[in-house]
Amino acid sequence: MLNILVCVKQVPDVDQMKMDPETGTLVRAGVPAILNPLDANALAAAVTVKETWGGEITLITMGPPNAEAALRECLAVGADRAILVTDRAFGNADTLATSYSIVSAAKMYGSYDLIFCGKETLDGATGQMGAQLAERFDAAQVTSASLIKEIDEAKGTLTVERELETGIETLEVDLPCLFTMEKTHYPARIPNLKGKMRAKKAEIITVTADDIPGLDRGRIGDPGSPTKVPRMFPPVLPEPGVIIDEGSVEASVAKLFEVIKGV
Ligand code: FAD
Repeated sequence: MLNILVCVKQVPDVDQMKMDPETGTLVRAGVPAILNPLDANALAAAVTVKETWGGEITLITMGPPNAEAALRECLAVGADRAILVTDRAFGNADTLATSYSIVSAAKMYGSYDLIFCGKETLDGATGQMGAQLAERFDAAQVTSASLIKEIDEAKGTLTVERELETGIETLEVDLPCLFTMEKTHYPARIPNLKGKMRAKKAEIITVTADDIPGLDRGRIGDPGSPTKVPRMFPPVLPEPGVIIDEGSVEASVAKLFEVIKGV
């Protein structure tokens, strides 16, 4: 049976987020949290694999306790179990510490043949997690994966298409393999009532730093994060352009020359 892991993140709805011009920090208060949209596509890919070749889907997220809502949303559309990695000790983590923490927790619950990630998140948007997770899971990695075409469990291989600027590339890769998914063939699944009821009642496995045997505290949270953010500021937008329309080409050109000459 295929053991499938899907990494999902709850993110603030950035369309509704503003920056405090005084402090240069993001104002998160009152901003709704949503499932990272591309993670819904990654999950849809995993559910399609499960429907076609069988398997069990484990979800994992690292985040605050309310990230449980994102996990239940995913359980409602076909995932089987969910792990929430949450602890103040994990706070202030950069991607290096985040990937270490996620993999340390995930390994407690088994090994995985397929690992699905979104391409990037709405908020951090570094796109670094996929590569870091693949390395830590000792898995092959396929970026911009668009279609899982065939899985040969006996051989331990899989055929997958990647979307490139110049066309489609078809690869055969060994398992285990991690994908950062394109959404092309995998629209987000819509939960039905039965799925929602099941998700509401499902047990969420909660993992704290103390629960992970052998976890190196120097590699998690702030102490484990070599990336520091000294300052954040909104981009300075260029002055808006001016449309010159004096009613005729001749008059508009004359006006343009006046503007250029600074009259
Ligand atoms: P990407 O690399 O863009 O994500 C790609 C994919 O990886 C996602 O689509 C998803 O499938 C998977 N993924 C990403 N994040 C997670 C996750 N958490 N759980 C499961 N799967 C995931 N963030 C905080 O929330 N709190 C903090 O206190 C905090 N402090 C930070 C301090 C520093 C110095 C820095 C640099 C970052 C901090 N962050 C914090 C942001 C945090 O490190 C990133 O959100 C996280 O590492 C993921 O990076 P990303 O959002 O760029 O993911």
